[in-house]
Amino acid sequence: QNTIDKIAAGEVIERPSSVVKELVENAIDANATAITVEIKEGGISFIRITDNGCGIPREEAALAFLRHSTSKIKRVEDLLCVASLGFRGEALSSIAAVSQVELITKTKESLMGIRYIIEGGAEKELEDIGAPEGTTFLVRKLFYNTPARRKFLKSAVTEASYINDLVERLALSHPDISFKFINNNQTKIHTSGNTNLKDIIYNVYGREITGNLIELNTEMEGVKITGFIGKPVISRGNRNYENYYVNARYVKSNLISKAIEEGYKTFMMQHKYPFTALHFTIDGDLLDVNVHPTKMELRFSNQEEIYQFIFLTISEGLTRREL
Ligand code: ADP
Ligand code: MG
Repeated sequence: QNTIDKIAAGEVIERPSSVVKELVENAIDANATAITVEIKEGGISFIRITDNGCGIPREEAALAFLRHSTSKIKRVEDLLCVASLGFRGEALSSIAAVSQVELITKTKESLMGIRYIIEGGAEKELEDIGAPEGTTFLVRKLFYNTPARRKFLKSAVTEASYINDLVERLALSHPDISFKFINNNQTKIHTSGNTNLKDIIYNVYGREITGNLIELNTEMEGVKITGFIGKPVISRGNRNYENYYVNARYVKSNLISKAIEEGYKTFMMQHKYPFTALHFTIDGDLLDVNVHPTKMELRFSNQEEIYQFIFLTISEGLTRREL
């Protein structure tokens, strides 16, 4: 069990930012409206994720750390707590296999919360304690028992920057959730959760970008596009400012990137990339989601149509600006 978990952990948990990604996605799945990510030393020695979501019932805490244990398929059917794309049930077991984890959680229904400690996959402690509703995961000493993997990590500053980028993306993908990111006791990101995407763009990217946005809002059969694209004056030399989300998930898709860039090129002849923060709401029937432990690949059943629609949304948005 333990060796298998350690190997499996290598697939899911590559670096501190992978831990943050998995734990924040779990918090989102738990219907949290406020999520705090706190790290020290780039997350290598300390990661704490706190949410105000549904919590984990006492009798499910230990189970949650077993490989392939997920409550989500069951719960989607029951329409209880969560409905999500994360249903592999590998994250917690993988994280616990290569670190020291402390979990504090309380559900609405229970009077007391619990504190559960698991190290290198071995349970250490389970006790009742007073706790606020929601869940806190504290992950210490990542890869303490897998030195080879530990060696692959970059400097604390670089690892922290990966986490910063990740929290930015998560905040932009969920304007309805308040995110806070604290690095070495300094608050780096704090979004209000008031669902106004422009406020979050301002929070994350500042005044120059926020002052040069074009709002988009278009719809075709099964596909809706809302959000913002930057005017050509704030175009960039690389793709780092291309943010888009499909059904509130940060994803990568060649089709979407290409359609955005080609649409943009109708106004921007130089080889530059746009700033975008776009939300795509796409019907499940049109989507084929292939969930791999580390990435999400998207395929569309009507590729040509979707491509054209995105292309036109972008180029017409830019035209509108010229009028
Ligand atoms: P998955 O997300 O694929 O179900 P995980 O290993 O990430 O698998 O999590 C296992 C289970 O632990 C989840 O299905 C969920 O029931 C529970 N869980 C994890 N994190 C939280 C959280 N922050 N709030 C509520 N439940 C959680
Ligand atoms: Mg998960």
